[in-house]
Amino acid sequence: MRTSVAPDLIFDMLRSLSIPGQDPGTVLPRETSMVKLTATETARRVALDAMQMMGGYGYATEYDMERLVRATVVSTVYGGTSEIQREIIGKTYGL
Ligand SMILES: Cc1cc2nc3c(=O)[nH]c(=O)nc-3n(C[C@H](O)[C@H](O)[C@H](O)COP(=O)(O)OP(=O)(O)OC[C@H]3O[C@@H](n4cnc5c(N)ncnc54)[C@H](O)[C@@H]3O)c2cc1C
Repeated sequence: MRTSVAPDLIFDMLRSLSIPGQDPGTVLPRETSMVKLTATETARRVALDAMQMMGGYGYATEYDMERLVRATVVSTVYGGTSEIQREIIGKTYGL
């Protein structure tokens, strides 16, 4: 369920970008932030759940899981943190 939300949002955004007559240079801050926030937070939660399932192996540097956890956790920081994405989304609703 969780993992199906991010692709749906991305497809919706791509669909809205390809409206005939719409300027392809149109900036969509709300949709962009929603996609970045949902995709990275989903990846982080899924990686942490997977690490938990693997027990000690999930944390050991000998296995890929540890690298995936680090990569997904930091993805909620670079390119604009999750907190900032929420700020942007809120601002587009006038909050
Ligand atoms: C691996 C990696 C690669 C990077 N690559 C690049 C790159 O290629 N180019 C580039 O320019 N930068 C890059 N960065 C920098 C990255 O964009 C910043 O780390 C990120 O924007 C957060 O800024 P900061 O580290 O200064 O944290 P800060 O802005 O100091 O934020 C610290 C914490 O406070 C929160 N916070 C800050 N302001 C608010 C607010 N108004 N409301 C609520 N919470 C807030 C943040 O969400 C965060 O949790 C990279 C960072 C990493 C870790």
